[in-house]
Amino acid sequence: MAVAHDSSVIDLDRAGPRPLALIDPFARAITYLRVSVTDRCDFRCVYCMSEHMSFLPKAELLSLEELDRLCSAFIAKGVSKLRLTGGEPLVRRGIMTLVESLSRHLKSGALKELTLTTNASQLQKFAAELKGHGVERINVSLDTLDPDKFRAITRWGDLDKVIAGIDAAQAAGLQVKINAVALKGVNEDEIAGLVAWAHGRGMDLTVIEVMPLGDVGETRLDQYLPVSMVRARLSERYTLEDIDLQTGGPARYVRVKETGGRLGFITPMTHNFCESCNRVRITCTGTLYMCLGQEDAADLRTPLRASESDDLIHKAIDEAITRKPKGHDFVIDRRQRRPGLARHMSVTGG
Ligand code: SAM
Ligand code: SF4
Repeated sequence: MAVAHDSSVIDLDRAGPRPLALIDPFARAITYLRVSVTDRCDFRCVYCMSEHMSFLPKAELLSLEELDRLCSAFIAKGVSKLRLTGGEPLVRRGIMTLVESLSRHLKSGALKELTLTTNASQLQKFAAELKGHGVERINVSLDTLDPDKFRAITRWGDLDKVIAGIDAAQAAGLQVKINAVALKGVNEDEIAGLVAWAHGRGMDLTVIEVMPLGDVGETRLDQYLPVSMVRARLSERYTLEDIDLQTGGPARYVRVKETGGRLGFITPMTHNFCESCNRVRITCTGTLYMCLGQEDAADLRTPLRASESDDLIHKAIDEAITRKPKGHDFVIDRRQRRPGLARHMSVTGG
């Protein structure tokens, strides 16, 4: 099947990279775009934001139409998976308009997956609509099942609302994967229970290491719990069987024999995933980050606004991809105790 975008033709049946595919200098095809649609959020998770964050003035944000245009330009260049994230994507006003308009690329076959990462606080309201627009799977971030601990981690969150959001998502037929950040001394004793809970509800679980992004007013070393330790502890209770599931991302998956469910481990601090990296990220102001763990970025808002034709955007995307680095430089610095990168996760999305 061939779908026309601008004057180009993408052959969707061809195996391997497409004629217009974005190939970086290390021969990696870029097929996955994460879009932070807002830097705002209704939570203030301790590892993600400081309590008193200042957010971008609304005027600096790309409009929903501009976000659609930018996403569509990437899709025309062979991106086949798109994840909306944030901040909290579901607090962006009118977000369903964007989801609905992007769903035309699912219908055309150009996009294989449209998905989002959410804290689930607004899912009760939006789950059915998301499913109606062709979203099949979502990631929900949840680090604990203890209401007090949940409030302490998220500062502002209400666990009951989040669980109700997950219920609504499952009732609407969305597949849910849970992401939990491993936090030293906070939820480390709960991870085995989270596995049982998630798998009992038919949801995969992924455990994530804290990344040194943004100054959150707490010391990373205090939060950092190596996922290798989580894994070692889980193997005392469960039989973890390696499975060969490659996503191009940093997760490595096992099957938990006792539950039959899937468990992922994300270890961003190690370099073992960079060589298969297939993704780039754009912020809500139209800045393209070629790597989550590097400062280098390209401004796509200027070419987007400079002309009604997409030629300048395509050129800017092509040029930026030639600068995608081989890997990241994350370090949790034991001497300086500073964040590895000044940018918060809520700017580039998870
Ligand atoms: N608000 C949505 C949510 O929480 O799912 C989407 C955006 S959030 C930035 C995406 C993911 O990044 C979440 O799973 C969150 O736990 C994770 N995250 C945020 N800051 C992090 C950090 N410093 N290290 C590791 N993961 C982080
Ligand atoms: Fe908000 Fe998600 Fe960051 Fe928590 S992790 S503060 S829910 S953006």
